[in-house]
Amino acid sequence: MSTNIAEYGAIDCDIHPAVPNMRALLPYLDEYWRDAIVSRGIVGANQDLTSYPPNAPLSARPDWKPEKGNAGTDLALLKSQALDAFGTRFAIANPLHGALVYANEYMAAALCSAVNDWMAKEWLDAEPRLRASILVPAESPELAVAEIERLAHDKRFVQVLFLVMGSIPLGKRFYWPIYAAAEKHGMPIGVHAGSMYRNAPTSIGWGSFQLEDYVAQSQAFEGQLLSLVSEGVFVKYPGLKVVMIESGFTWLPAYFWRADKTWRGVRSEVPWLNRPPSDVVREHVRFTIQPTDEPPDPKQLTRVLEQIGSDDVLLFSTDYPHWHYEGEDVIPAGIPPELLRKILVDNALATYPRLAN
Ligand code: ZN
Repeated sequence: MSTNIAEYGAIDCDIHPAVPNMRALLPYLDEYWRDAIVSRGIVGANQDLTSYPPNAPLSARPDWKPEKGNAGTDLALLKSQALDAFGTRFAIANPLHGALVYANEYMAAALCSAVNDWMAKEWLDAEPRLRASILVPAESPELAVAEIERLAHDKRFVQVLFLVMGSIPLGKRFYWPIYAAAEKHGMPIGVHAGSMYRNAPTSIGWGSFQLEDYVAQSQAFEGQLLSLVSEGVFVKYPGLKVVMIESGFTWLPAYFWRADKTWRGVRSEVPWLNRPPSDVVREHVRFTIQPTDEPPDPKQLTRVLEQIGSDDVLLFSTDYPHWHYEGEDVIPAGIPPELLRKILVDNALATYPRLAN
């Protein structure tokens, strides 16, 4: 049974507007990069970041596809399907663009800036309910920090976007300058499903199918969570929040149990971690609700939420235009009604201080 959420004025923490093609970014590039993009012959290319076929259900729900072009490229459709349909107050745009993964760090930085400026001009200026994540070249912290500083004055940018699979674990000090900048400006680090493909997407090597790649994402989220906690990122940056986006969350209870139990045995190796890992996650990390690995009996999901042990960690998301549910049936069965307002509104306001501006 679907839950009508229109009255809440929900905050959608994961939608995906898409850059239609490289030509759309030309006005936001300097002369050098405009020339390079044209002379290299990649101006007509769609640099949408996906290793999945564009018509696969995980890429686009059939009724959310425009007549022309890829899903997420049409502002009018996005307004009616992703915002009006759910009574959304704010929605945070996470454009999954190839700029996030280029190995050429200068090109990555130029294209991240271009996508950010394109987002501000063509989407944020046109639709007051939209907010956005800043794309950064995460493998070049110096350039990533410069991009955060360049855009920090614009309060419509509320978060810094990472992919869950980069070159090294996210807790490493290599990334800490980015966390310092994000904390300073009240921006969470949003960690979205996806890979830069610097490493195989699973610890056992390269698979063959989309099935393997997509299911393996939760392994990556588990690894990153423990890396951030055990390396002491949240000790160094006590004001930092991390949002795991499109990560799932029903795996948390078993993960918490195993992490806390192991920490008790080996805690002397991480003396800065003076409380169980699950406590740190409950304070600093948030998870978006789509997709939910939904059990057949709603009571089982209620039970999982009890085992997670906090009302603060879940954030509403539609993951528009990816296909995880039918119609407006975005709230998984088993979420207790008294938790709904927290998931739809209050938790996001507490996580993203810049939404209040
Ligand atoms: Zn998503």
